[in-house]
Amino acid sequence: MKKTEELITSIDEKELIDNYNEALNDPDFKKLVGKLKITDDKVINYTSKLQRTVSELNNCKRCKGLGSCKNSVEGCVFFPHNDEYRIRFDYVACKYKKQALEREKMAPIFYKEPLSIRTASLSDIDLTDKNRIEVIRWIKKFYKEYQTNKNIKGLYLHGSFGSGKTYMISALLNELSALGAKCVIMYYPEMLLNLKSCLFEDEFRTTMESIKTCDLLLFDDIGAEVVSEWNRDEILGTILQYRMDYKLPTFFTSNLTIAELEANLSNTKRGVDIVKAKRIIERIKQLSDDLEMISENRRHN
Ligand code: ADP
Ligand code: MG
Repeated sequence: MKKTEELITSIDEKELIDNYNEALNDPDFKKLVGKLKITDDKVINYTSKLQRTVSELNNCKRCKGLGSCKNSVEGCVFFPHNDEYRIRFDYVACKYKKQALEREKMAPIFYKEPLSIRTASLSDIDLTDKNRIEVIRWIKKFYKEYQTNKNIKGLYLHGSFGSGKTYMISALLNELSALGAKCVIMYYPEMLLNLKSCLFEDEFRTTMESIKTCDLLLFDDIGAEVVSEWNRDEILGTILQYRMDYKLPTFFTSNLTIAELEANLSNTKRGVDIVKAKRIIERIKQLSDDLEMISENRRHN
């Protein structure tokens, strides 16, 4: 007679074999096992996990996008790999997740910009608005030229509130980042607060480095910040000097004309410094063309 322990083991094993044989009735399960190229005596231990893979793969067949993912980890399939002695399961990204990760890698770095700006695209720009034609022409020309020359001038785009200045330049940078350019789009007044509140020197240096050295940079809403000697000379001045030295295209949006920005930059709490403001303005002029866009206010709030 068999000892109790042996008996239990053989009952357990029989159950595993029965479950496995039953699962084999499912053609998808059979196909998956066939692909794994593993012997039956090993695979019987993984029946329920493999059934989970089959069920997740079936969810994927009917899936239309990440938003409707039914798997336990969004955008992933619980998937088997045949190691030498066992089957190992990993969460493998589905095609939608892979596309999303790829897009994320290519997207600009944004500092405090709303979703409408993060998703702005050139194809959505309203071409019927006459006030924008000159800007649209400039943007198209830049898009084309940048493919062959990475050291061209950016744009200082000033004009009325809500006319689409941030939108237009962000659309251009979004498209170029999809082609591989490293872009930073930063709401400038907020960026300064960010830099000011950096607790660690390292954090400050890394952020400054990414702004200074990116391929394409947008100072969004320059002139809306409270000017100080620190942000004018050490932040703005340093970034612009670097970008001039390396001929890196730089963009600005502002409600102020360049002349108004100069006046604005002259005044700090400590007094008036026309020379330092002029120095900044010279750099801006070297880095960018100057265009105005006055148009209807598209903000609906
Ligand atoms: P500005 O920077 O000139 O103040 P924005 O670029 O922020 O203006 O645009 C104002 C609003 O209009 C934003 O919500 C933006 O998403 C929207 N907008 C601007 N241009 C377009 C466009 N071509 N298509 C769709 N929405 C636009
Ligand atoms: Mg704006």
